[in-house]
Amino acid sequence: MSSIATSIKPGRDAEIKTAPGPILLLGAPGVGKGTQAKELVKLWDIPQISTGDLLRANVTQGTPLGKVANEIMARGELVPDSLVNEMVALRLREPDTVRGYILDGFPRTLGQARWLDARLAAQPESLPVVAVSIQVNYNQLLRRITGRRICPVSETIYNVYVNPPRLEGFCDLDGAALIQRADDTEEVFKERMRAYEALTAPVVEHYRTLGRFAEVDGDRPIAVIASGIVAAVEQLRKG
Ligand code: AMP
Repeated sequence: MSSIATSIKPGRDAEIKTAPGPILLLGAPGVGKGTQAKELVKLWDIPQISTGDLLRANVTQGTPLGKVANEIMARGELVPDSLVNEMVALRLREPDTVRGYILDGFPRTLGQARWLDARLAAQPESLPVVAVSIQVNYNQLLRRITGRRICPVSETIYNVYVNPPRLEGFCDLDGAALIQRADDTEEVFKERMRAYEALTAPVVEHYRTLGRFAEVDGDRPIAVIASGIVAAVEQLRKG
């Protein structure tokens, strides 16, 4: 995995011609949903809505939601649907979502998927969702998660195994000390994978059945995967 800062944008001819609309990035923990969402944000100028990031912000700010979510997240379990749906509903009211948005890490249960489907169905002006599932094998995911280090300033993502910073523990761009997410340990990863298999894998099947669904191989360079996602979304929007 190379850092976001050094990744290459997909070519101009890969840029989407119409409004991108709502896009779901699906996949197990560590497949690169966040990294890909950031690539698509640069390309399409629509927001990334990461429920993991929103929840972590709530934890940091000590909000009532953050207080409930903190321990659940530390165990690698899922925060209850009602709380996450309400948080997403609030975010989707922001005006920057009008041309579309990238949902990263949501929906993660069939309950969340049905809630989102109903919400969009009630908004006839909204384009239907397009779902892209990113695939990476288990052992790769384990290395990605346990090796992941993040710069708290530039949000650059490193990996101690495959994409280490030049100076161990410090960001190449701004020298800030890198941090490891508390849930990026092997033990919590295994719990997150269990939650994924039990609760989120059916969401992938739900969108596969509904159509407007594509799968991309996430074990390739960042820019190549991003180009694959752009091509898939363009194709699905035509259909
Ligand atoms: P992520 O940053 O997407 O890996 O999410 C980190 C943690 O936040 C997850 O392990 C869950 O505990 C929680 N979380 C994120 N998104 C959701 C969601 N859509 N539903 C329930 N819990 C979530």
